[in-house]
Amino acid sequence: MRLDPPPPSLELLRHIIVDASRARNQAQQVDCIVKHVQQIFSVPVCSLYLIDSERHELRLIATLGLNQRSVDNLKLAFGEGLIGTIAESQLPLLLDRASSHPDYLYFPETGEAKFEAFLGVPIIHLGDTLGVLVVQDSPPRQFDDEDEAFLITISAQLASSLLRWPSSQATDLSEALPRQIKGIKGAPGVAIGHIHFVSVELHHFSVDNTVQVDSQQELTEFQSAVTKTIVDLDAARKRLRYSVSEDVLEVFDFYKLMLGSEQLTKKTELRISEGETAINALRSTVDECALIFESMDDIYFRAKGEDVRNIGNRLFKALLQVSQGQVTDASNIVLIGDLVSVADIGQFEPGQLAAIVCMNGSALSHTALLASALGIPAVMGTGDISGLKEGDTIAVDGYQGRLIANPGDAVLKAFNELIKQQQQQDRLYLQFRDQPAETVDGYRIRLLANTGLLADISPGLERGAEGIGLYRTEIPFMARDNFPSEEEQLEIYLHLLSAYHPHPVSMRTLDIGGDKPLPYFSFREDNPALGWRGIRFTLDNRPVFISQLRAMLRANASLHNLRVLLPMVSRVDEVLDTLELINTAAEQLSKEGLSFHRPQLGIMVEVPAAIMLLPFIAPHIDFISIGSNDLSQYILAVDRNNPRVCSRFDLLHPAVLHTIVALVQQAKELHLNISLCGEMASDPLAVMLLIGMGIEVLSMNSCSLPKIKYLIRHIHRRDAEQWLNLALKLDHETKIRELLTLNLEKLQLHDLLDPPEGQQEQGIQ
Ligand code: PEP
Ligand code: MG
Repeated sequence: MRLDPPPPSLELLRHIIVDASRARNQAQQVDCIVKHVQQIFSVPVCSLYLIDSERHELRLIATLGLNQRSVDNLKLAFGEGLIGTIAESQLPLLLDRASSHPDYLYFPETGEAKFEAFLGVPIIHLGDTLGVLVVQDSPPRQFDDEDEAFLITISAQLASSLLRWPSSQATDLSEALPRQIKGIKGAPGVAIGHIHFVSVELHHFSVDNTVQVDSQQELTEFQSAVTKTIVDLDAARKRLRYSVSEDVLEVFDFYKLMLGSEQLTKKTELRISEGETAINALRSTVDECALIFESMDDIYFRAKGEDVRNIGNRLFKALLQVSQGQVTDASNIVLIGDLVSVADIGQFEPGQLAAIVCMNGSALSHTALLASALGIPAVMGTGDISGLKEGDTIAVDGYQGRLIANPGDAVLKAFNELIKQQQQQDRLYLQFRDQPAETVDGYRIRLLANTGLLADISPGLERGAEGIGLYRTEIPFMARDNFPSEEEQLEIYLHLLSAYHPHPVSMRTLDIGGDKPLPYFSFREDNPALGWRGIRFTLDNRPVFISQLRAMLRANASLHNLRVLLPMVSRVDEVLDTLELINTAAEQLSKEGLSFHRPQLGIMVEVPAAIMLLPFIAPHIDFISIGSNDLSQYILAVDRNNPRVCSRFDLLHPAVLHTIVALVQQAKELHLNISLCGEMASDPLAVMLLIGMGIEVLSMNSCSLPKIKYLIRHIHRRDAEQWLNLALKLDHETKIRELLTLNLEKLQLHDLLDPPEGQQEQGIQ
């Protein structure tokens, strides 16, 4: 089937975005943008202004048509002139005679007097202005609404690739000053370590071209990478020869053809011998080759461009392995990747990892939760990271969600100081390890741990957990390359149940999907959060489900402390079908003469439908656990994993609080045991309200447990009820946070909150 060619404007747009995102430094990128936009609009002038957020001003960063001497020298304050007005108002300006606009300011050094036709649009990313893109012409030319719409589309598309470089470092990436890279808070804590890249692709990378290169060594490494890639491809082809069709296998032949080609391999070698690093040479050649295919009309050849980029990525990974070797015994590793997977984390002992950084994802993505469980700081959603190298020292600030590359002595000192303070505080909270979690007025709360890796069993016990409130069984499924057998699962579950015996252990049945793909069972969905997740997946894959249920029932044979928890329940029949499967598993085990014990059954309340259906579900279950992460995601309709909307995700959103209050009330009326196992349980402000709601069991990552116990032991339940009553009258999460923070300060408990911004600022640009 042949598809119609896209309309010319989309084709042009695709071209400029591909080109701009592949630039190797910001100077190259901004030049590429103004060149393309000038051509598309056929105008004599195109200019790009970017915000210098440190100095709170706009700077002309690239132009075609205005005097080149004003580049980097023309600076405007927010609200100053037409450019400053666009930046401040975040609205476009379309003028036939620019000089008649009341905000017009004339800068003679630019030579712009005759270009009266003016169209300027803001460049905005996640609500912040990054800069202004302008086209100008002389009369009689007039821009129209269509021009405006197209320029807005271009600027919207360019925003995220412009973010790759901080504005204050526009032209010099080689300077070794501390540089801040903004992301989103993932897991709390600060750390200093050495970069190790995983799951990254060639286009995320560039290497400083100004450094001295040993061409011979780069060439040898590149050639070894080519050999290694050929060997790997041959092995993969052999492995797949009976499981995929012949036309899929042909891709391997194309890859091998490219590896022996003039255009890819020989051209890269030539660039290396001319003094480029192997990575930069490879990147340039891959871009060049892929663009040839990508600009062809025929859809078949265009797809080949993707194949070229794939082979480029394979070579790149081989090159990293050849030049850096495998990092297996290093310590203080900061893992950086597009989305660091559980399998990536599983390659290391938890003690080796200092921090985790993901270019994508946000605070509630499962990588961030895993980092919290392991007590490792994490920063998410940084976007592409350029200018960083394998092995570089980097400071990671999980409290503020940022990285500091090239941390100087002052930054290192400030971070080390904070690490020391953290350790002191942890020791203080741990003093209460063997004391009950009881409010000052004698109200007893049970604190349980969330786990997922065997490695995080002991931290829970060491910190005084009174059981497991949520064992995410999908984590061991994700950290391997096929479904674990019943016997393998039995071993894992038995280990967990015995470690916590006689305390209860709530094991959740497989909850894959969403941001938890199984590497060996991948499927793509347009809307994975609303897709084949949790109980929906397991009920549709009965052999997988029944083997898990059998392993659980067997593990409980003599220990009797298992509780089974069903994820993502949104229908009564999902509970009934599971009960039937539990019956089937029990019958099978009896017939086989294997001992087992039926566990209590509960559901996660994390889909609003489950709340409405609770009266119908209650007769079939023993308990419920509130999954506040997903429940908030589905109440607020905000994807918990999407960095673009994560600022709208707040567990203290009034709608979330009112829902949980009503749910607790309903559970009491239905005589259902209730606990909460989402991230709310580890947020001191949220816990102040949960105690007020009358929730008696909280399950959280074990690292937060001592802190939450300390909080509970220092507050009165009757105060918590009052805070809740006041909070429920407020219409915004910020007001709720302020109210709770104020009360925490009154009780001198504000050290329980993450350190405020500013404490580790020293020495950061
Ligand atoms: C939740 O949704 O709150 C929860 C605890 O489950 P998970 O974070 O694993 O989806
Ligand atoms: Mg969930």
